[in-house]
Amino acid sequence: MNADTQDHGFDPEDVKLPQGHFIDGKLCWLGDDGLEVMRPSDGRLLGSIPDASADTVDQAVRNAQAALASSGWGRRPPRERARILRRWADLIDADIDYLAQLEAVGSTRPIHDARAHEIPFTAEAIRFFAECADKYSGDVVSTRSDSLGLIVPEPYGVVGAIAPWNFPLSMASWKCGPALAAGNAIVLKPSELTPFSTLRMAELAIRAGMPAGIFNVVQGRGTTAGAALVRHPLVRKVSFTGSTATGAAVMTDAAHHGMKPVTLELGGKSPQLVFGDAGDVKTLAGRIARGFTSNAGQACVAGTRLIVHASVAEELMSSIIETTKSIAPGLTWDGATRYGPLIDGRQAGKVDQAVRASVAAGATLLAGGAFFDGPRGGHYYRPTLLTNVTSTTPAVCDEIFGPVLTVQTFTDDDEGIALAGHPIYGLAAGIHTGSIDRALRAMRQVAAGTVWINRYGRSGDFIIPTGGFQGSGIGKDLGRQAFEACLRYKSVLVDVASPAAT
Ligand code: NDP
Repeated sequence: MNADTQDHGFDPEDVKLPQGHFIDGKLCWLGDDGLEVMRPSDGRLLGSIPDASADTVDQAVRNAQAALASSGWGRRPPRERARILRRWADLIDADIDYLAQLEAVGSTRPIHDARAHEIPFTAEAIRFFAECADKYSGDVVSTRSDSLGLIVPEPYGVVGAIAPWNFPLSMASWKCGPALAAGNAIVLKPSELTPFSTLRMAELAIRAGMPAGIFNVVQGRGTTAGAALVRHPLVRKVSFTGSTATGAAVMTDAAHHGMKPVTLELGGKSPQLVFGDAGDVKTLAGRIARGFTSNAGQACVAGTRLIVHASVAEELMSSIIETTKSIAPGLTWDGATRYGPLIDGRQAGKVDQAVRASVAAGATLLAGGAFFDGPRGGHYYRPTLLTNVTSTTPAVCDEIFGPVLTVQTFTDDDEGIALAGHPIYGLAAGIHTGSIDRALRAMRQVAAGTVWINRYGRSGDFIIPTGGFQGSGIGKDLGRQAFEACLRYKSVLVDVASPAAT
């Protein structure tokens, strides 16, 4: 068997969990109360984490600030930081057997996806930002000839990072990679639902030679530990991924506690705009099905609104339904699983409720609309298609974060492009057409931070930034924009003395 086809299934009881927070280069608990963490696949107890008090967050942040001063991390030659980050990425790749199990046992990511995508993407994102360390700098600008104008970048200091549960490791790497490469220290709060894999990442950072205290993980609830991190006076910048509502709370806290800059990667309700000339329907159906069922729909960029030309609508809907019929749920630790659970009962209730409310508002259920009879204790939702929807149907308005696709049809281009817009969100959009003119016209008119033409989903091109317009966020993850956002810029003007004065 070659490595790609090997079954990497494992016994969840055999996975040893790292315990605690990770502060000053080591795991610790610090007397905090405990919080139980469940396995999404079967709802059984996985382990527990400390629920950081404001004192613990304070200790982590102060320690990070002290570590910056004592290690000189931000003052070191950028290539030295890059070397350590590259070593870290190599250790993450080399640790794939353990790290992928840790990710799969406690999240919605099947072991196959964790190995094929989550771990390699995490390592490569860190490598990408390591390469930025000495590539983007300040500037010497035009001034009067008897002066010299400089724009000098410097790290912020301690950056607070808050990550969600849907892609626990890669989301953490998008926040920590650029901040660390730019010379900052990090205090990361992972979601309380998926807290373990980033602890391992922290252990590997120390092995790679990162000074203790530069990369820290504090565990706990968002409304307490997360909020304490955002409000801490020594946290100079915040990078957050999660819901738009929580993003607004983070921004408010950042405004009232130091006026610190925020990078917010928030929710979406992304359209898949299909014109009548989009080509082979079966290929399209596969692409659109993947766009809304990947990670069981728990992706900020999920393409959950199909806006399709009436001439191909019937055939495309039938083909999508046919494609999704082959989707079968499974435990995340089973090597054959390609479709995992929803994160927990609360999220499952939210998905089901949104579908019911949409049907009550007049939508027609074409497929799904119910839970799979899947593994016991987990929540596995059937890929769901809703038609006869309007712009006020809940499934069209709200981010559901489940495998639910709404279908709206149009007959002329302007109508389709108008339907693709959303009053709140503007994260991503897919445009499918055989006409380059049509594609570019639509691309210009759709308000979305990312537009994919004749594809849907990210590539391995870390240079392409990601981030939303409108309620989908502020600033970018990935790309050189993410690196540059981890630096603040000092304007310097030097008067050059005339020879007579020297
Ligand atoms: P949240 O936005 O509430 O949580 C995201 C992260 O923020 C978590 O680490 C959370 O901690 C933390 N957090 C929560 N409240 C605060 C606060 N006041 N200050 C600082 N940090 C905070 O998402 P949920 O996990 O509750 O999911 C709810 C919905 O959010 C989903 O149904 C989905 O629609 C959307 N979502 C969007 C994501 C995206 O990628 N854009 C990712 C995840 C969710 P804790 O887990 O402890 O609450």
